[in-house]
Amino acid sequence: MHASASLDFTPAVGDHAFTAKQRSLLALAHGLGRDRFAARAAQWDEEASFPFANYDDLRAAGLLKICVPEAHGGLGADYATYMMVAAEVGRFCGATALTWNMHVSSTMWTGVLADGIPMTETQRAEHARRSQLHFRRVVEQGAIYAQPFSEGSAAAAGRAPFGTTARKVEGGWLVNGRKIFASLSGAANYYGVLCTEDKGDEKPDARDTLYLAVPATSPGFAISGEWNPLGMRGTVSRNLTFQDVFVSDDEQLMPRGVYFKGAQTWPAMFFTLAPTYLGVANAAYDFTVRYLRGEVPGEPPVKRRMYPTKQVAVAQMRIQLEQMRSLFLRAVLEARPNPSKDERLRLYAAQYTVMEGANDIARLAIRTCGGQSMMKHLPLERLYRDSRCGSLMLPWTAELVLDRMGRETLYEAGERDE
Ligand SMILES: Cc1cc2nc3c(=O)[nH]c(=O)nc-3n(C[C@H](O)[C@H](O)[C@H](O)COP(=O)(O)OP(=O)(O)OC[C@H]3O[C@@H](n4cnc5c(N)ncnc54)[C@H](O)[C@@H]3O)c2cc1C
Repeated sequence: MHASASLDFTPAVGDHAFTAKQRSLLALAHGLGRDRFAARAAQWDEEASFPFANYDDLRAAGLLKICVPEAHGGLGADYATYMMVAAEVGRFCGATALTWNMHVSSTMWTGVLADGIPMTETQRAEHARRSQLHFRRVVEQGAIYAQPFSEGSAAAAGRAPFGTTARKVEGGWLVNGRKIFASLSGAANYYGVLCTEDKGDEKPDARDTLYLAVPATSPGFAISGEWNPLGMRGTVSRNLTFQDVFVSDDEQLMPRGVYFKGAQTWPAMFFTLAPTYLGVANAAYDFTVRYLRGEVPGEPPVKRRMYPTKQVAVAQMRIQLEQMRSLFLRAVLEARPNPSKDERLRLYAAQYTVMEGANDIARLAIRTCGGQSMMKHLPLERLYRDSRCGSLMLPWTAELVLDRMGRETLYEAGERDE
């Protein structure tokens, strides 16, 4: 990595006084995306297949261990650095960025984010010992972690305990249940499952949420279901079932009860899906500028830039992109444990702005470039479909963000109407 190199491109997050580490990681991601991922993106989309070749490149470049602390052999990227680099990956392949986020979050939540979550001394020592095991797998074996939380119930929205359960047995846990929308299904070596501790009293409680890594080779673990969606097709997000799956104590990604506290302490951990879509928005904008200038490789050099309506549309796209970048960057830079109410509301606003804005920009891009631009050999129609998926992702769907913002603005904690 060339820590001192200056950037010869504008990153998807926009210009900023980046640190040397941020600059070198952004340059690395930009180069990989431009030279490798961009040309392959149509294939994963067409086949709804997992981008294994991109993962080989991510592994070779060290980017699977981007958030593993340096002391454990990783690149030691902090939250803000990861978010900036993720947007750059999303600019070239949405499905790669989104799945990479699931993997990276497993190391970020257990690494830099866990440092800010309150734990007893015993829990902290236990966590330090166990997280090493997971870091080592990523660093030494290039292992991939998935993040299957969704169940098709209110649990992934944070409104109910997870229906997947884990019962304590000698030396570990017995996991039972089902997950839907598990990105990286069939590609991951470990599935970081959220489940509720079954204490035998039939009163499931979200405070008893456990975060366990289930090895893909575990007896009783199975992948099922079709995967033929509108967009983000390369994520291969199929269903998982767990039938009396035994996992050892060491597979706990966080000590008992700590995930629940983490979700309350670090709301920005749920913002990590957004950079993918900021990247997609940049890609739609970049394409539009090139297309209107008649500079798309392989296309006739027809210029369409002289029409005032197109100039206005590009201006609108740029204005929206700048709004997204600004709010994104501010939210990312101020992310911390226990944010103030203003910071929290701004975080929700950033999530909404990026997720809905990505689709707005892609929609305007197609309208502005016109009919020939939506052909399958060009990336725009894929970007349009991929961009629609951001607002659907729990726990912060566009609807739930509006719901939270309205309620949390009008009610202080504990306030009720008679
Ligand atoms: C491309 C893609 C990849 C994904 N990858 C993963 C993954 O790796 N891991 C994972 O865990 N999940 C993943 N998801 C799943 C995603 O996070 C959601 O869980 C999923 O889209 C929810 O779909 P649903 O139809 O079951 O939502 P439902 O629960 O049926 O909700 C439908 C909509 O209603 C609203 N809603 C839900 N609950 C409430 C409520 N209590 N109050 C008000 N409104 C509510 C929300 O806006 C929601 O979008 C992925 C989704 C997509 C599209």
